[in-house]
Amino acid sequence: MHEFPITQQIIRIAEGKTREAGASRVLAVSLVVGDQSGFIGDSIQMYFDAISEGTCCEGAVLTITHVRPKLRCTACGLLFERKPFSFACTGCGADGEPTEVGKEFYIDHIEVVPGGLDHD
Ligand SMILES: [Zn+2]
Repeated sequence: MHEFPITQQIIRIAEGKTREAGASRVLAVSLVVGDQSGFIGDSIQMYFDAISEGTCCEGAVLTITHVRPKLRCTACGLLFERKPFSFACTGCGADGEPTEVGKEFYIDHIEVVPGGLDHD
């Protein structure tokens, strides 16, 4: 459920950016969401469509890039994608330890309609 406030925040940021650029509306928002960020992309997508109604984000395309968690091997240093139920390094078989990869959560890009100030 905590996707709701974070989605509101994303829309507020997009609105700020739209004003800053003198644009009329947002075309697209790109998000990067790690699988271990604690946020569920599908929920953000759902809230985005609902909350953006009537704002400059209405109709904008929300693109979510998912990041799979990676482990770093304690023996050989290899960074590898974790397999279910396993911590084994894909290179040498030693145990890997968690890294920050997969915990990302940020707005990568906001695309606005440029110079969208119409005078009617
Ligand atoms: Zn290794």
